[in-house]
Amino acid sequence: MLISVAIDGPAGAGKSTIARAAAARFGFLYVDTGALYRTIALSVLRQKVDPSDEEGVKAALPQTKVELGFVDGEQRVYLNGEDVSEEIRTPEISMNASKVSAIPAVRAFLLGLQQELARTHDVLMDGRDIGTVVLPNATVKVFLTASAAVRAKRRVDQLAEKGMTVDYEQTLREIEERDENDRNRAIAPLKQAPDAVLLDTSEMTLEESIDALCALVKREVHA
Ligand code: C5P
Repeated sequence: MLISVAIDGPAGAGKSTIARAAAARFGFLYVDTGALYRTIALSVLRQKVDPSDEEGVKAALPQTKVELGFVDGEQRVYLNGEDVSEEIRTPEISMNASKVSAIPAVRAFLLGLQQELARTHDVLMDGRDIGTVVLPNATVKVFLTASAAVRAKRRVDQLAEKGMTVDYEQTLREIEERDENDRNRAIAPLKQAPDAVLLDTSEMTLEESIDALCALVKREVHA
């Protein structure tokens, strides 16, 4: 039987770093679903459409082919055949991904791709609605979070590692704004599934967070 681990939580909780490491330990495919929404945002911006304009975004979808590839277990995302995995990692795309993700047609557009991966692989999938909408029957559901201040600091450090300098206060404001959008949207809002285990990593190191997630997965998989 295939195993699916759903990891949901707010922006900057360390989901991708923690989930990627845990997936590698178990040999599961790590799927970062945020990359899909980011790619839609990029496509919409390239087509000069306002990411908040529902009709405009809908009209842009047929010109938007999104595919995921896995190179040595590392996810790559393609927009109309072009690898945009790096280009989608900017604060501008983060904010616009949050905007397009509130549009039902965008969520419907990406649903099948995500579900298909779980039908064909052991997956550890991270996002906002994986345990609630995409994989409601996931083997294990985890809601991974940390305080907004800790998340902003981690995001600043993460971008600094990639050579990008961003302001802490502004990052914090953006994280709070994005959480607000994601929690309050009408469709697939960010919320903990009733059967998800809460993992708050505010006081944990990265290693401790990875160990805690792996322990949860082991416990649930062997239950
Ligand atoms: O996880 P990441 O920060 O890359 O996600 C970017 C944006 O995509 C989020 O702020 C959220 O609005 C949206 N998203 C979503 N559902 C998911 C994953 C991401 O709505 N499953």
